[in-house]
Amino acid sequence: MLPNRNDQGGDSYRYGFNGMEKDDEVTNVEGSHLDFGARIYDSRVARWLSPDAFEKTYPSLTTYGFAANSPIVLLDSDGNVVVDPDGNPVTYDQDEHGNPIRDSDGNIKWSKNATPDIKQYGEAMLLTSEGTTVFKEMQDNDRSIHIHIAKSKDDPNHKRIKKGTGFALGETMNDAQYKNIQAGKKYKDADDDLHFNEETGMYDKGELWNDTHIIISEIQVDKISNQGKEGYDIRDKNYEMVGVSVEEGVHSVQNSFELSKTVVGKDGKHHETSDYFNEQDGKHEVEAEGSSKKAQTEYETKEKSKKQE
Ligand SMILES: [Zn+2]
Repeated sequence: MLPNRNDQGGDSYRYGFNGMEKDDEVTNVEGSHLDFGARIYDSRVARWLSPDAFEKTYPSLTTYGFAANSPIVLLDSDGNVVVDPDGNPVTYDQDEHGNPIRDSDGNIKWSKNATPDIKQYGEAMLLTSEGTTVFKEMQDNDRSIHIHIAKSKDDPNHKRIKKGTGFALGETMNDAQYKNIQAGKKYKDADDDLHFNEETGMYDKGELWNDTHIIISEIQVDKISNQGKEGYDIRDKNYEMVGVSVEEGVHSVQNSFELSKTVVGKDGKHHETSDYFNEQDGKHEVEAEGSSKKAQTEYETKEKSKKQE
């Protein structure tokens, strides 16, 4: 989400709660992400939630055509750019469908340079086939994508998420923005490195996005999770982690933002208007939230069927 012009160039994931302040006030986005009980209904992506739409868009394993000629892909080492803090690719043992091969304790076998944060993020992504698809896109993407999970209130990443958007769980940002946060400077003072594209009417990401950072606040996730509460049993911590991880994962591989209302002039080019913030219809947001909801629905369905066994 992009709550206001000053905050542009980041993108975060948040929920509103029933009976709590609606997040419209924070984000200026009318009626999105409201909690109606055990399920979340997102008015912006409602069409994704209907079973038919879900079936149609469900990712097919043929996505992993790359493995067709190699019977067992142990380490997909080429082009993996989910990186450790030193910029080295992180990999995991996977089968021909891109699914992780787990050891007898059920743990994914990560390469040695996988940090605890990357493992935690990857576990959430690899819980669903939707997340697995997005994670693969992150690995195949040209950008270096850095994962940071804040576990303490003093962590500047947690502070940013809380301060920036109120109910956010995570956010995706460029290298300058990330460094500003670590230095205790104001986020909005960093270069957003977005360049208006007259052909598309979108803002293209510049080179600062070659190092893209995903920050997630575990404190926020814990706060929002309804683990163990009656009627909320599926909306556990995993459910929330799946949601934020997939949403930010999609954002991390998007090449542009739709930030403003544009008009097409007589010259056939897009022009910005003063009426900016057409965020509600932002293509990048619809795409990320749709994918996120799809992964959560998949997780929820799996958990429910487990319980019925
Ligand atoms: Zn988003």
